[in-house]
Amino acid sequence: MTKACDVLIIGAGPAGLTAAIYAARAKLNTVVLDKTGPGGQIALTGEVANYPGSPDDTGPKLIEKMVQQVHQFGASIELETVVSVDFNEPIKKVVCKEVTYHAKAVIVATGANPRKINCPGEDALIGRGVSYCATCDAEFFTDLEVFVVGGGDSALEEGMFLTKFAKKVTVVQLLDHLTAAKSIQEKALKNDKMHYMLSTVVDEIKGDGIVESIVLKDMKTNERTEYFADPDDGTFGIFPFIGYIPSSSLFEGILDMEDGYIKTDAQMRTNIEGVYTVGDVRVKTLRQVVTATGDGAIAAVEAEKYIENKF
Ligand SMILES: Cc1cc2nc3c(=O)[nH]c(=O)nc-3n(C[C@H](O)[C@H](O)[C@H](O)COP(=O)(O)OP(=O)(O)OC[C@H]3O[C@@H](n4cnc5c(N)ncnc54)[C@H](O)[C@@H]3O)c2cc1C
Repeated sequence: MTKACDVLIIGAGPAGLTAAIYAARAKLNTVVLDKTGPGGQIALTGEVANYPGSPDDTGPKLIEKMVQQVHQFGASIELETVVSVDFNEPIKKVVCKEVTYHAKAVIVATGANPRKINCPGEDALIGRGVSYCATCDAEFFTDLEVFVVGGGDSALEEGMFLTKFAKKVTVVQLLDHLTAAKSIQEKALKNDKMHYMLSTVVDEIKGDGIVESIVLKDMKTNERTEYFADPDDGTFGIFPFIGYIPSSSLFEGILDMEDGYIKTDAQMRTNIEGVYTVGDVRVKTLRQVVTATGDGAIAAVEAEKYIENKF
């Protein structure tokens, strides 16, 4: 079966939903596709304290409001997994399992996912002590202890940021040395709140609704040690910074990329006319809701101008 629209948006996280609001408001026939339904990464978090105007919203609540706005302006959101794309002709083809969409413009908003430790307990305690975003969640760990997992640039930089809130930050690194740039290491080593456990991995995270202990394994001796929260605190934080995985494999060999992230210009244009990329899946310096929504608005306005001139 084929369906046609003006603007097809792949991904219903904050970037894709904002693009839909702007495109639909410009009276373009707009469809948003998402393989798991609207939400994206922000639906994983209980508090979005830094998105302007909604300090008390949970991630799911913020998404619910965005979805209402999308529907209010007449765009539709479909539960679909995109399996391939063909951007060779002016009318782009986006292939899902049962439907192929034909669109005048496509906005890619497939996001990214933090790389997980993949240990028992991690998934169940996301947003309950396990966080992948220091900018978002550092404040919740004011005067608590924090473990940072990883030894690269972002682990140390985010670790140092966390020391502004946490009473102690312990970096847990698989290798027997840190891999962050020397300049970052020098700065981190001067920070009294930063501590290091090298040749160590996180084997398990435990807690009943909130992180209560972490099991660490020494890679040299295979010895497992369970570390419990300070009884006065009852909990502590665990921040894995072991990389991000952009959801861009569909576009390999089609859209220009850098380290798996799709390259755009300031108008969110990719190397293919009529194809835009927004949010966490594009090359950018700050991956947050506020930047994802900004990208979405810009791309929709650009797509509107493109469609008007081209078709
Ligand atoms: C735990 C956590 C807490 C966070 N807290 C905050 C915070 O407090 N404040 C803040 O500003 N930011 C926060 N962030 C970051 C924020 O969530 C992201 O920057 C934002 O969600 C990026 O939006 P996006 O629309 O680009 O991508 P995403 O939110 O990743 O959405 C992408 C969507 O694309 C869909 N998709 C992917 N591939 C396909 C496909 N092939 N077919 C169909 N659909 C597809 C996915 O299902 C997903 O719904 C947090 C992130 C995490 C992980």
